[in-house]
Amino acid sequence: MDIAPRYQELYGPFFVTRDQAGAHNAEVAKVWEAYKRDAPIRVPATWGAMNPMRLMYADESLCFRDYWHDSEQMLRLQATAAALSRRIITTDDAKGPRAAPVGATLDFHPFGDETYWGCPVEFYDRDQPRVYHIYSDAKVPPSRMAIPDPFSGGFMDTVWRMYNEMSALVQTDISFAGLRFTPRVRTAGMKGTYGIFNTALQMRGTALFLDMFEDPEYVHGLLDVVSRGYVHRVKAWEKETQKNKRYNICYDHGIDMMSTEHYEQFLVPVYERVKAAFGAEKYDANIEHCGRGEAVLRYKHERFGIDSFSNLNASFLDLEKLRHDLGPEVYMQVTIHPGLVHTGPIDKVREAVKETLTPALKGRGRLTFGIQGDNFRAPIKHLVGLYEAVKEYGHY
Ligand SMILES: [Zn+2]
Repeated sequence: MDIAPRYQELYGPFFVTRDQAGAHNAEVAKVWEAYKRDAPIRVPATWGAMNPMRLMYADESLCFRDYWHDSEQMLRLQATAAALSRRIITTDDAKGPRAAPVGATLDFHPFGDETYWGCPVEFYDRDQPRVYHIYSDAKVPPSRMAIPDPFSGGFMDTVWRMYNEMSALVQTDISFAGLRFTPRVRTAGMKGTYGIFNTALQMRGTALFLDMFEDPEYVHGLLDVVSRGYVHRVKAWEKETQKNKRYNICYDHGIDMMSTEHYEQFLVPVYERVKAAFGAEKYDANIEHCGRGEAVLRYKHERFGIDSFSNLNASFLDLEKLRHDLGPEVYMQVTIHPGLVHTGPIDKVREAVKETLTPALKGRGRLTFGIQGDNFRAPIKHLVGLYEAVKEYGHY
């Protein structure tokens, strides 16, 4: 047994036997086969619940800061999360071999974009880091903003060191929780973005919304610099590591606070330029949208042809209306309020799932349910209960 006693204690009661995993695999094969045929028998549950962030919140002996500074610790927590997720069932993913090697990921979620631009990041022992704005009090002219080096300066020194250390470690026979690693470190986090607008918002703060009225030229300038920096960083990381399969182009956060008019005025031209700079044929394959703002979602579908949206929250969006407006062809992954999943009790969680998975939302299919959501601190028993509820109320 390679799982440390403290994780046995926390998660042991939820471990399944190999027989149970086999029965689960047989069931989910049917669920997915029907889903892919567009003849669903039940809404599939996706987005596994075990990850390093969950471990950091659950295990009081861990220090959050270490994860983003110590390459061994990043590997250790990723392997431990993988080992645990192979024993706990919270989604309709098939359970693969328990001993298969783990793919290591250079993981600077959720602050890679802003720290690239030099926003100061403050680390804590027992919580996620906070990033501070750099231009909230001073509107530096965009023409005077230099595009940062993608590998050095500020926090990028740490990111690049971690990448090189992890790349060397995964080539050795190092293992954690009994698992070894595949030989290449994934760098998707350094080649994706939470969005051009989101990055500008982190740099300037909410004053950016006022700027759209008072100084639109400044906003155009700032978004242009941010987009050029993003393209520069992605291309540089692609050259040093491996090529992207898909690019983030119109993937963005913070946009749910914008009017469609402002979105069209400020962001659509930026996205067009980013798409051209990457030589991409299509926009993003999927848009994760965790906030409000149904109008922006409809716009993205109509204007950019986006036909897959994830993390759509039943508490913030009118999902039935959204399904109606987007049409039955669009893929939707929905979820329920993270606060409810955190506090429970399970009966309330079940009720919310029942209320969410109505015939109107389930429609003809192309609907999945995201279990993890933003629930890093929710007890695992609530996530297991959430999955059970999807199985019960997700039937067609
Ligand atoms: Zn999000």
